Amino acid sequence: MSYQPGRHFLQIPGPTNTPLPVLAAIAKPTIDHRGPEFGKLGLEVLSGIKTIFKTESPVVIYPASGTGAWEAALVNTLSPGDRILMVETGWFSTLWSRMAKKLGLEAEVIPGDWRHGVDAAVIGAKLAEDKAKAIKAVCVVHNETSTGVTSGVAAVRKAIDQAGHPALLLVDTISSLGSIDYRHDEWGVDVTVGGSQKGLMLPPGLSFNAVSDKARAAAKAATLPRSFFDWEEMIAINGKGYFPYTPSTNLLQGLKVAIEMLHAEGLDNVFARHDRAAEATRRCVRHWGFEIQCANAAEYSSALTAVRLPEGHSADALRATILERSNMSLGNGLGPLADKVFRIGHLGDFHELMVTGVLTGVEMGLAACGIPHKPGGVQAAMDYLGGNAARMAQAA
Ligand code: PLP
Repeated sequence: MSYQPGRHFLQIPGPTNTPLPVLAAIAKPTIDHRGPEFGKLGLEVLSGIKTIFKTESPVVIYPASGTGAWEAALVNTLSPGDRILMVETGWFSTLWSRMAKKLGLEAEVIPGDWRHGVDAAVIGAKLAEDKAKAIKAVCVVHNETSTGVTSGVAAVRKAIDQAGHPALLLVDTISSLGSIDYRHDEWGVDVTVGGSQKGLMLPPGLSFNAVSDKARAAAKAATLPRSFFDWEEMIAINGKGYFPYTPSTNLLQGLKVAIEMLHAEGLDNVFARHDRAAEATRRCVRHWGFEIQCANAAEYSSALTAVRLPEGHSADALRATILERSNMSLGNGLGPLADKVFRIGHLGDFHELMVTGVLTGVEMGLAACGIPHKPGGVQAAMDYLGGNAARMAQAA
């Protein structure tokens, strides 16, 4: 057995560090998924999870990774050959559009540069052109995990409404839910896709569809084949707290505690904590002299920061060095960003000292790899978190 002392820093943008109360809940003995104890747990998590999506509508919980919930969103609402509009914000939007095509949908993908979020005006223009109302759905990723760029979901809703278009709005919140403010009902989203392993602080293995009345109505007419992912079979039995097949009992035990923890802290405080960690990280990165992948400050992600290394330096070699020296995992660059960027996850269960610890590990790694940078980025983060930056600005 080899052992690296100290706790591993899991700073990829999900899966995230699972807090001890959640781990303890998951480690409790497995219970009968048809028994009364489970029925009570089922009702608790099925109503509790709605408060995280900010919806009164049903939230379907699958024993699947986020990819399963992507598929569920498409197969419940659409029919073979349906036209849908998707936006290339990065790797995950690309994977979702590939899935749509594999399922037999005609997905038009609005191209993007992987440094900006969705342009709601372009969506509005595409819908306005669609006089026959052939486009059945618009799909966007709220927080693009490959780039650290967010997209304005409310603006997309507005663009759809202004075009007077009936298309459904499907949104991926896999890396924003529980980290960045999200409002399924208020923003008029029809299907929200979520996952357990990021802001919800659980291990991977659960995923979610929050489903509007309009989406449920669309599902009645939709003919893409579906069985395991059929919402109605789930919703019918969920009313009593049960599932049509064996659910992930232990992960649901953990989910109950995770929801309680998020509310104990207060969702607004959770989001503010993420905002501060992200701002501290960006100040540190800028001090080092590196570019942030997200090119628009209004679209910065509070869940992760993707950092571009100068030409000729390997982000993967840096990550490998940091893993070996500091026992910390950072996210890799995906697709065309492979080896060019590394991603710092600052989401889920963490506090400020962990943020500065993460940045310290990166700064030591930069020095060890001989990557030119201005030392003292961690100090810039500390000045911000400790309030020194504000005090110094006031004194100046
Ligand atoms: N969508 C986004 C935004 C993601 O970040 C991920 C995974 O990281 C996925 C979808 C796919 O989810 P999973 O890997 O859980 O299947």
